[in-house]
Amino acid sequence: SQDRVFNFAAGPATLPENVLKKAESELYNWRGCGMSVMEMSHRGKEFLSIIQKAEADLRALLNIPEEYAVLFLQGGATTQFAAVPLNLCKPEDPVDYLVTGSWGDKAFKEAQKFCKSNVIWSGKSDKYTKIPSFDELEQNPDAKYLHICANETIHGVEFKEYPTPKNKDRILVADMSSNFCSKPVDVSKFGIIYAGAQKNVGPSGVTVVIIRKDLIGNAQPITPVMLDYKIHAENNSLYNTPPCYGIYMCGLVFEDLLAQGGLVEIEKKNKKKAEILYQTIDESGGFYRCPVDKSVRSLMNVPFTLEKSDLEAEFIKEAAKEKMVQLKGHRSVGGMRASIYNAMPLAGVEKLVAFMKDFQARHA
Ligand code: PMP
Repeated sequence: SQDRVFNFAAGPATLPENVLKKAESELYNWRGCGMSVMEMSHRGKEFLSIIQKAEADLRALLNIPEEYAVLFLQGGATTQFAAVPLNLCKPEDPVDYLVTGSWGDKAFKEAQKFCKSNVIWSGKSDKYTKIPSFDELEQNPDAKYLHICANETIHGVEFKEYPTPKNKDRILVADMSSNFCSKPVDVSKFGIIYAGAQKNVGPSGVTVVIIRKDLIGNAQPITPVMLDYKIHAENNSLYNTPPCYGIYMCGLVFEDLLAQGGLVEIEKKNKKKAEILYQTIDESGGFYRCPVDKSVRSLMNVPFTLEKSDLEAEFIKEAAKEKMVQLKGHRSVGGMRASIYNAMPLAGVEKLVAFMKDFQARHA
């Protein structure tokens, strides 16, 4: 609508307008129960219906097999950086990390505190613009798991397929924070998938963990209860007070994604948006550049720089005047970044590319 901007932020990020309107209409008095979702007991029948529907809809969206638990937790993906090794490893266990950007690196460093984590490949020397061919990976057969960050939010590098874990238990763990529910995923390939909600599926404050049930129940004795998957699985994510309103919002987003035809349809839309943006960059004759290897460019986060880097501030300022905001790249890499998650409409990307072409014509 007219009073809203196109928000290209990396997260918290834009949410679907119809979801926001639905939440607005239900805010004061949720479905006639006489109170808002923020006020209801997490153990009451109203909230139970909300969390159960959210889980059922997420299971339908991602085709989550019965042998996986779905947990709605707190603490962001950052907390999972610790929870994963605490739940899957003893302190002396080796684990493998494939580091394709800053988030994979942070996950690796946190795991060092709780087990013997090793980087088996790092894209750092190429400024995190690549993903290796999986054949060249030297996986440790004794590793407890192989960890990847499925989409590097800052560097715009996304796995298009997944490595086969060669460790003895064949466990692949993925941080899917920034491409969660953006395309179909074969959940059965993973031991754990985790994601902060605030990019594709809701507000910040909710972290979704999808975990194969047989991996639950082996946490290190020092594991805080809040990080123990067993506690949360046994209590259906209601061990303590969950982020009720955030879970409700995620539920509305899941409903919306299903109504749009599910993740096959969502992926088509995301591909179309990414395609026109990358095409504009690649056909600009070097005026705009995206450093990421073409084969692994993210559908969600599109980093780019200007050949004349002194124009970057002007670009961001002019875009903001035209109601396109949050285009500044992450402080660690500079340049620009357009995050175009599920809820960014095609019209937003079309407006951005039209602006980019116009900006180039005026400044080339
Ligand atoms: N992993 C990825 C891929 C991310 O993009 C982010 C947040 N930008 C995080 C982890 C950290 O998430 P949180 O802030 O929810 O802890």
